[in-house]
Amino acid sequence: MERSIRSLPMQPEQDKRQVALERAEELKHRIEGYLDAVKNIPTGFALAEQNEARKSKILEYFGATESDWNNWRWQMRNRISDVKELRQILPLSDEEAGHIEFVSKKFRWAVSPYYLSLMQADNPSCPVRMQGIPSIWEIRDNWGKEDPMAEEFTSPAPRITRRYADRLIINVTNQCAMFCRHCQRRRNIGEVDRPAAVEDVKAAIDYIRANPEVRDVLITGGDPLTLSDEWLDWILTELDSIEHVEIKRIGSRVPVTMPQRITPELCEMLEKHHPIFINTHFNHPMEVTREALKATRMLAKAGIPLGNQAVLLKGINNDPNVMKKLNQELLKIHVRPYYIFHAKHVKGTAHFITTIQEGLEIMEHLRGYTSGLAVPWYIINAPGGAGKTPLLPQYLLSVEKDNVMIRTWEGKVFRCTNGGYIDDSNDAC
Ligand SMILES: *Cc1c(COP(=O)(O)O)cnc(C)c1O
Repeated sequence: MERSIRSLPMQPEQDKRQVALERAEELKHRIEGYLDAVKNIPTGFALAEQNEARKSKILEYFGATESDWNNWRWQMRNRISDVKELRQILPLSDEEAGHIEFVSKKFRWAVSPYYLSLMQADNPSCPVRMQGIPSIWEIRDNWGKEDPMAEEFTSPAPRITRRYADRLIINVTNQCAMFCRHCQRRRNIGEVDRPAAVEDVKAAIDYIRANPEVRDVLITGGDPLTLSDEWLDWILTELDSIEHVEIKRIGSRVPVTMPQRITPELCEMLEKHHPIFINTHFNHPMEVTREALKATRMLAKAGIPLGNQAVLLKGINNDPNVMKKLNQELLKIHVRPYYIFHAKHVKGTAHFITTIQEGLEIMEHLRGYTSGLAVPWYIINAPGGAGKTPLLPQYLLSVEKDNVMIRTWEGKVFRCTNGGYIDDSNDAC
């Protein structure tokens, strides 16, 4: 006790409290702008009643019941993919309807009734709507590549994408509950829902079995959770039988686009295959709803860690406050923000692409300003599938033999001792 007091600079208790109080005031000011801005950011929880009203209208249109709504097979069967049907539910101008019709000749679209219930009827730039309903810009902005990640060149076996030494992707279907307008694999979406052929999945599993350095297998698509519990169970059982496969991950957007898919039976099946992780894809706080929470809580209770891989999209989430709110809302539903991807130059999605500076500014507004748990990595994919590459604002200003200069989240600059003898003067850390 005596020792620790002596090692601190001599200051009366009163003065220390005063310093802390002043600092607390300063910290409060740091967050004022955000607290103001966040009042105007719509969230799924705050819009619950409006969503509920739209859901009733959709059920009425289909002549369906609450139990239909909660049945994911009903949600899949009744995906809306026809503009005439859409117009019965979501008011569209003749121009918008014409555009959707025109774009759908080139790119398939479909939305689950649930995801449609999150769309604001009176707002064409609603962030949920922009992700699900085709835009004329998919045709007008016609630059980019079909396959910028060169997935066709990184597939050593059917259905496998391998870009890393110890982990790979197995792509099990091209189906989704909703076809994202920013989809990076839209070239695979095709005209019909197509689960991978059984022989192809077997060949992919054989490849994994034959390559003992593969310890982490990502099951993705399309959306693997559009497959039946039985088929997924079979794939996971096969992977469990391979000794060198240490962990499995599922990449799925159903917690966002069709949370009804997360059933007690699915969770019971997944629990047999631990350790298993799920990464999902929320892009806006409006997607974080009570229904999503019900799904993510079930998965969390089944012991499955949940991560989020957002995509930075112009007009949807390219705003530091929106992204901060999204990541905070995600923690409320047990989902840990994992990645923010810089959008790729996929043909038909150019209108969503932002600058890198926008992504860096978002990161700058996260670190220090909110829970470290709410700070994902900002990732750009190197061309040709060369790998995920993190981008970070500059916090390390210089590195010398004996010391380094750092900048904190508030922009304070410090010199820190670099290894070796640590002198305890004030500027050393
Ligand atoms: C993204 C990706 C992975 C997983 O990367 P992590 O950084 O480990 O999450 C694995 N394989 C491929 C081909 C990928 O694109």
